[in-house]
Parts: sequence; structure tokens; C-alpha cells
Amino acid sequence: MKFTDAILLNRVIKSVREGVFPPICLKCRKSYRIPNERYEEARALYANPNANLRDPIRFRRLMTAYLCSQCQSGFYAVESPLCPRCGIMFKSREGSDHLCGKCLKSARHFRKARAFAVYNEMFKDLIYCYKYRNKIQLEKPFSFILFSIFIRYWDARDIDIIAPVPLHWRRMYQRGFNQAFLMVRKWRTVAKTFQIDLTSVLIEREIIVRTQQTASQVGMSVKDRQANIKNAFAVKTPEKIKGKRILLIDDVLTTGSTVNECARILMNNGARYVDVLTLAQAIKSF
Ligand SMILES: [Zn+2]
Ligand SMILES: [Zn+2]
Repeated sequence: MKFTDAILLNRVIKSVREGVFPPICLKCRKSYRIPNERYEEARALYANPNANLRDPIRFRRLMTAYLCSQCQSGFYAVESPLCPRCGIMFKSREGSDHLCGKCLKSARHFRKARAFAVYNEMFKDLIYCYKYRNKIQLEKPFSFILFSIFIRYWDARDIDIIAPVPLHWRRMYQRGFNQAFLMVRKWRTVAKTFQIDLTSVLIEREIIVRTQQTASQVGMSVKDRQANIKNAFAVKTPEKIKGKRILLIDDVLTTGSTVNECARILMNNGARYVDVLTLAQAIKSF
């Protein structure tokens, strides 16, 4: 870059910061101002892997460049007591982790599921922006947040393959990306900040593929969801997953029927175990 270009670029950055081109909130689409120190705090968080991002203040700092302060509010982290199997957070904030009623009763093909935040209005809106309004700027904070939760609940040496829950090719074509894969595709770089070695972990987009177009599950009952999802997936290369420890990634865990079906297919094809990590999780047991 030429010296004059660098000066020009600095001027542009400065004017953005000073509000000549204020950022637009991804959710409410209004412009807002960000004080300089907020930028600095967000940058400091990205450089400090030990910061607890489940702290609401820190989470808001991380979202500074994407959401206005009003739209940042309402964040709620998933915390113990939770179900050690499906990760659901109990409404009662007393006591220790214990299996939930559903996990005691029904078959779970995954070993454990964990999430970062409660899937409430705030997170619903945020994920909606990311998934349906193509706000892929959110890839950066989501990737970072998800990784911080990954190392909270897992030792990276206990996972061989990281794979997203797949979209059907038709939806992939319409949308142009698999939002779950975007959240992990740069994990090797993110891991370096955390001083974690991910070189032996395979991060792959197409471990599981959709075999049929399933109807959108929004508004369906648990039973309908299970029927809708049955046999919707296949393992692309079974030899690849034999004896492997797999971490499935998705944006949100609501009824769990999708990840459970993916886990079932993987286990049937010889995976050693399947775990699940999502950005958000519904608080209602599935
Ligand atoms: Zn807003
Ligand atoms: Zn459970």
C-alpha cells in the first residue's frame, strides 16, 4: 500500500468511528454510534481467550459492531444446573447438574450436547439475521463464541472430526452457504489465539449429507419433526468416520430431533461417539 493510500484509509476509518458513516444495527436497521473505547474493548476481548464471554457485559462488547445497545440486551448464557446429556438448562437455578426427564426416558444417540446461550427473543433475532438475512458478518463473533464454549466443555484431543449439520443442497443453493459450517471453518486460526492445537482435527463440511428435502420444521410438533427428519441424512464416506469421535455443529438446538437423527446415522456407520455443540438452546426440554 502506498503511503498516501494508508493516510486515506486511516481517514476513512477515523470518519467511520466519528460517526460520519455510523454503523447500522443488524437487527433494528437503525444507525447508531459506537464510542471509541467500545471498539477497543471488543478488540481486547478477541485477543483475550480467558475472558468469560458468557458474562452479559462482555457479550455485549463483542456484539458492539453489529447491534445497537438496545438490541444487545436480553442475552442469557446457559449455565449449570443443566442436564449433562442434552445440555438443557433447568429453570430452577438451585442444585447440581442432573439428567433431565427426557434423557432418562428416550434414546439419545449423541453423548452430550452443549450450547452457549438460551434461545430467547434476543438470540432468535440474532440467528435469524445470520441465517435468513445473510448477515454473515456475524460469522466472526459466532465462531469465536462457539470456540470458547467448545474448550469449556471439551478437551480438543477428544475430538477427531468437526462437522456441521447439513442443509439440503436446494436450500444451500438458495442461501449460498451453510451457516453452521461458517461458524467453524476458521477454527484453526481461532484456536491459535486460545493457544490450542487443532491440527489433528478434521473440520469438514460434508461428513453427513441430506438425502431428501425436509419441510421447514418451524411450528411442527416433536412427533412430526421426528417423522419429517427420519432417513433425511446419509454419511457421505463411511470409511472416514469409522471409530471417530465426532462433534456436530448447529446454530440452535430446539427439539433436538435433527441432531439426534444425524448422531444416529453416524453411530450406525461406526462412529465412536457423537457430541453436539450449538450457539443457542431452547430452554424447554425436548
Ligand atoms: Zn438495534
Ligand atoms: Zn437431558
